[in-house]
Amino acid sequence: SMVPTITLNNGVEMPRLGFGVWQVPDAEATTAVATALEAGYRSIDTAAVYGNEEGTGKALAASGIPRADLFVTTKLWNSASETWTRDNVLREFDASLAKLGLDHVDLYLLHWPRAFRDDYLTILRTFAEIAESGRARAIGVSNFQVPHLERLLDETSVVPAVNQIELHPHLAQSGLRAFHARHGITTEAWSPLGQGKGLLEDATIAGLAAKHGRTPAQIVLRWHLQLGNVAIPKSVTPSRIRENLDVFGFELDADDLGTLAGLDSGTRLGPDPDEFD
Ligand code: NAD
Repeated sequence: SMVPTITLNNGVEMPRLGFGVWQVPDAEATTAVATALEAGYRSIDTAAVYGNEEGTGKALAASGIPRADLFVTTKLWNSASETWTRDNVLREFDASLAKLGLDHVDLYLLHWPRAFRDDYLTILRTFAEIAESGRARAIGVSNFQVPHLERLLDETSVVPAVNQIELHPHLAQSGLRAFHARHGITTEAWSPLGQGKGLLEDATIAGLAAKHGRTPAQIVLRWHLQLGNVAIPKSVTPSRIRENLDVFGFELDADDLGTLAGLDSGTRLGPDPDEFD
């Protein structure tokens, strides 16, 4: 594939750019993932709660692309009223594999820490078992804050390969990125385009787009890549799906990166991970 990879802390190679399918209905996911695979994406980011693991799996199977060339991520939805046990986790993981029609995933993530339930250590220890069995090539977390990661590193032998967090120029997450860099955790950006709303209309980004003869989305994705983030933009529009992958033929300079750093207002689009249940 044309997409360069990053080497995770267990040696697994992960594409630096992938395709996200949040809010894409199951049937539409088949079409969107097929379009993405055709465009050259090899990494697909889904989750049990998105309700489109089956539709995603259908597109993967129909593509004819060798399994070893694909990188499939799904996530454990632990947001139920109960406290999670090893058995719950194994059951949910098996259900995800069955829906995807796969015998292993490339990355299995815990969707939210829900630290007040005090069960994420159990969940991650079970993830380590799943990885040990070969059914997930890598395991990680999502929406973890520094204290959640510190506790995980202090109290278990599990070092997540990835932390998938909300990250875009309005929420640059420098604290988490520095922590990840110190501990060999790859930073993966969700809502990398700021969900397409205000961010892509920003005049500063429009200026950089004009300077480089690129689109605002391409400027923002290039910023992610140059920061060392993995990014998983979502679109169901074929031209945008292709546009979002066409970001390897230009570079932002130091001035551009400084300009974009100035947009970091710390503004979240999604929930606060310390509170979200
Ligand atoms: P995004 O930042 O990728 O923005 C997607 C939206 O931007 C599209 O719906 C479209 O409106 C617009 N867009 C896309 N390409 C464009 C282009 N080239 N030009 C103009 N507009 C464009 O938002 P997202 O879907 O929230 O995030 C991406 C993925 O991250 C999700 O699909 C999902 O896989 C993942 N995610 C994970 C979590 C989590 O809790 N772990 C939360 C949210 C999203």
